[in-house]
Amino acid sequence: MTFEALGINTSVLKALTDAGYTKPTPVQEQAVPAAIAGKDLLVSSQTGSGKTAAFMLPSLTRLAALPPAAAGKTPNQEMQAAKARGERPRFKAAQPKMLVLTPTRELALQVTTNTDKYAVNLRGIKAVSILGGMPYPKQMQLLSRNPEILVATPGRLIDHMESGKIDFSQLQILVLDEADRMLDMGFIDDIEKIVAATPDSRQTMLFSATLDGVVGNMARRITKDPMVIQIISAANKHENISQRVHFVDDLSHKNRLLDHLLRDETLDQAVVFTATKRDADTIADRLNIAGFSAAALHGDMHQGARNRTLDSMRRGQVKVLVATDVAARGIDVPTITHVFNYDLPKFAEDYVHRIGRTGRAGRNGLAISLVNHAEGMNVKRIERFTKQLIPVTTIEGFEPKRTAPPRSAARPGGWKPGDNRGGKPGQRSFSKPGAPRKEGGGYPREGGSGGYPREGASTGGGFNRDGGGYKGARTDGARRSYGDR
Ligand code: ADP
Ligand code: MG
Repeated sequence: MTFEALGINTSVLKALTDAGYTKPTPVQEQAVPAAIAGKDLLVSSQTGSGKTAAFMLPSLTRLAALPPAAAGKTPNQEMQAAKARGERPRFKAAQPKMLVLTPTRELALQVTTNTDKYAVNLRGIKAVSILGGMPYPKQMQLLSRNPEILVATPGRLIDHMESGKIDFSQLQILVLDEADRMLDMGFIDDIEKIVAATPDSRQTMLFSATLDGVVGNMARRITKDPMVIQIISAANKHENISQRVHFVDDLSHKNRLLDHLLRDETLDQAVVFTATKRDADTIADRLNIAGFSAAALHGDMHQGARNRTLDSMRRGQVKVLVATDVAARGIDVPTITHVFNYDLPKFAEDYVHRIGRTGRAGRNGLAISLVNHAEGMNVKRIERFTKQLIPVTTIEGFEPKRTAPPRSAARPGGWKPGDNRGGKPGQRSFSKPGAPRKEGGGYPREGGSGGYPREGASTGGGFNRDGGGYKGARTDGARRSYGDR
């Protein structure tokens, strides 16, 4: 299958050739023709499968085909008309024709960058990002150009809608990118409000890691007779990413092991995930002192600083990025060979997103979790979610002193012994059953020998005690810590 055969606008085709895209990915093959025909889409396919182009190529094709007359008056023309009618001209709202909602600023910027790349030969189609953290005058300046395409995080967009700076009456295409993530982050009310402000005649495309549960309900509510595309591929299962768990006795052990692993010759660039912003800073500082070129990336940093850090990563000036979940979302740097979970993620889905930062663009990757013995249950939850066992590995000279929690602690429905698909002979998955494990016998996060004080969650990595329900389990608290307003 070629891009030509999909019916994409010829100027866009040329841009794709220039960008080095030779053939469409599976999700693009399915999504593009249907979207050009105006169908609503519900799409689930994993990170790195080319979803941005899957919605942007057909949208650009449709926008480019609009006769100029159908565009209606620009805000400027309307101001003139108001003057002619003897009315007092006032600020005219931007009237975008396409809106892409994304969970994070990084993702929004990435979508905008890709759109610019695809639309480079299309005169008069502009895309802008409207984001939290961007100076207000800058946003007003972007909006006053009346861009055809808006890419935005929900919170900030609502602010502009409510103050009358954006009018969605001319909107033709609505895209929700990483919809599951936006719901996890507590954006559901904002999304509903935004959707309600758009015309019923719009085309809606929703992209999500899953189409079950809450996302599925919303998806069906806001789309009409959608085409459902679910791509299952080896990459979806992250089969090109090797996974490992190393058990550690305490923070000092964890830090020594991390330093050792970061010196691996096969490591090109790495992302180290931490639970808190403060840890991201502290660990980046410590790694710099240890001679690595490391940088922190988290939500407390100004947008400019975050962009600069990501650019340095892309240019290879930063070797180790120490990041929190939200900040790392959407990082697409093909030379990332290793992902480390310095802390396990709170939610099993986040594990999948984290490890997807490596193994991009068809390469192989390695994802290593450094786990306290008390967090064995959390590893099991991740294994249940991904339906893959993660082999436990030890390195000579860095073996944990304590034995790991027994496999038998797993709840029913877990993986049978011997079902160790990911494992290699000689690597064991957790220790022999029957090892004693005291409840709450974990290492205190605060005042641990490594001396990295923790904020927020204490022992156990912060999984929900009620288990099972990752979805919908996030509260307002989650919105405060993960939100992007
Ligand atoms: P997703 O949203 O599914 O995670 P992206 O849209 O971010 O994936 O694309 C992942 C990477 O693949 C990006 O660097 C993008 O430029 C690249 N890409 C997308 N489609 C193609 C293609 N058809 N050929 C080559 N590279 C592509
Ligand atoms: Mg994407």
